[in-house]
Amino acid sequence: MEIRQGISVSPGIVVREAFVLDSEDFRIPERLVRPDEVESEIARFERARLQANDEIQALQPDRGGAGREIALLFKFHQLVLEDAKILDEIVSLVRGDLYSAEYATSRVFRKLAKQIRSIPDPYLRERDVDIHDIEKRILRQLLGAKREGLANLTREVVVVAKDLTPSQLAGLDKSKVVGFATEAGGKTSHTAIVARTMGIPGVVGLEDITADVSGGDTVVIDGTAGRIIINPDPATLERYSKKEAEFKSYVMELGSATRSLPAETLDGHEVTLLVNIELPSDIEVALANGADGVGLYRTEFIYLQYVAPTEEDHLRVYSEASRRLEGRPLVIRTLDFGADKFFDENELSTEKNPFLGCRSIRLCFEKMDVFKTQLRAILRASHGANVKIMFPMISSRTELLKAKGILDEMKEELDAEGVPYDRNMEVGIMIEVPSAALTADLLAKEVDFFSIGTNDLIQYCLAVDRVNEKVANLYQPANPAIVRLIRRVLEAGEREGVKVSMCGEMSGDENFTLLLLGLGLREFSVNPAGLPRVKQIVRGASMVE
Ligand code: PEP
Ligand code: MG
Repeated sequence: MEIRQGISVSPGIVVREAFVLDSEDFRIPERLVRPDEVESEIARFERARLQANDEIQALQPDRGGAGREIALLFKFHQLVLEDAKILDEIVSLVRGDLYSAEYATSRVFRKLAKQIRSIPDPYLRERDVDIHDIEKRILRQLLGAKREGLANLTREVVVVAKDLTPSQLAGLDKSKVVGFATEAGGKTSHTAIVARTMGIPGVVGLEDITADVSGGDTVVIDGTAGRIIINPDPATLERYSKKEAEFKSYVMELGSATRSLPAETLDGHEVTLLVNIELPSDIEVALANGADGVGLYRTEFIYLQYVAPTEEDHLRVYSEASRRLEGRPLVIRTLDFGADKFFDENELSTEKNPFLGCRSIRLCFEKMDVFKTQLRAILRASHGANVKIMFPMISSRTELLKAKGILDEMKEELDAEGVPYDRNMEVGIMIEVPSAALTADLLAKEVDFFSIGTNDLIQYCLAVDRVNEKVANLYQPANPAIVRLIRRVLEAGEREGVKVSMCGEMSGDENFTLLLLGLGLREFSVNPAGLPRVKQIVRGASMVE
């Protein structure tokens, strides 16, 4: 039994078998193609093989000095990629057995690696690493961003990984993954947010955990204490299994006890409790927990469903969310790509400081077609619905005016086409850059509402990377600097008659509910699973106190 302390990111307790995800270890399911797809499948393999070859070509170092050895190694890779026997074997598995290109590649290369491992010569034996390398190179080409990863689980597991990229998270079967433990990440890293939305326990910042846990080990994830226990002894296993059942019934009871009760303090101050969602399907849990609407819809996640969503694709998804909400408000945030939010691994930012770089609204200004497509869809979705639009990462009034100008252009286009939209649709911005918080009084004159994004506001104000576990102890929502910024924004909103909400993870953390109420916040947008806990604190609080 081994106990490891990390950072708690999502409460709850679960005891299950571990599924260890090495970020480079592709799980390739045995998938078949139809007979009429065989030729295109072979062509797909051939393309992937040639792309892998090009990649190696591009990596070729200078031939002098140490470069010579590396060049020889790459030569070996290229010889393997051109080996007629290997290629024939893969093609005949696709043609004869109807295996997918991925599965055929994986089978042939794994068999080859096994044969190499049995060679007596130690130098040759170690070449199995190269065979795996070549296999991965082809698989990366074949799979692109759609790794099979966690999509094919047959039983409930807890996922142990170095880190989980948004595309890996997208691929997982949410009914089978019941907990997370990762090496990287902080409280507002993407994995943490997804774990909370799913309502499953999560612990991050666990150094070397993927080396210490093997697939199939029994693991306790105590997301409340930020602790994991590897292969617990029988007494510990029994204790935690009991705790798991208790926590589950506590959550269910709390949800059903508070669902239809108002979010109101003991002395009658009303609070609006909205939720943050990533997919329209998240609305189900939100409504079951008594949400008043959606305060933040992270639309980047449409890209999990569509590679290049059209205006109609956007519209379909927004209309579905709006329909599910039955008249409750839906705040649609425009695309917030960049930094840690990318779904295509090939597009991962190469900037040195991506959080300070071309992300979010800045990236939208660079990719104007993508931005305009989304704006048109949001406008169209607003027709006859309670839809509001929100721009992320606004850092100056000029930037805000530019975004609003483009929105006006889209309105004119729709007018010219005779397409209806809500002419009074509210426009808001995220306050998540310190400059925006400090100039909230100026920005307030241009918008209908603010939503404080503490996840980014804290990292930018305190100079603490939100996804870096090494500085996670410095990531402090209640730091006086943050409290002052929040108060400033609330005061500016009050003076200018602009509503202020908060959608950063701080607003869903019940440890800060009293502080935020005291500062004057009356609208919280929280993760759907955590809503009952916040409501319970609100209902037990007195504003006078
Ligand atoms: C935030 O920054 O607080 C926020 C809600 O946005 P995201 O976590 O999507 O960056
Ligand atoms: Mg943000």
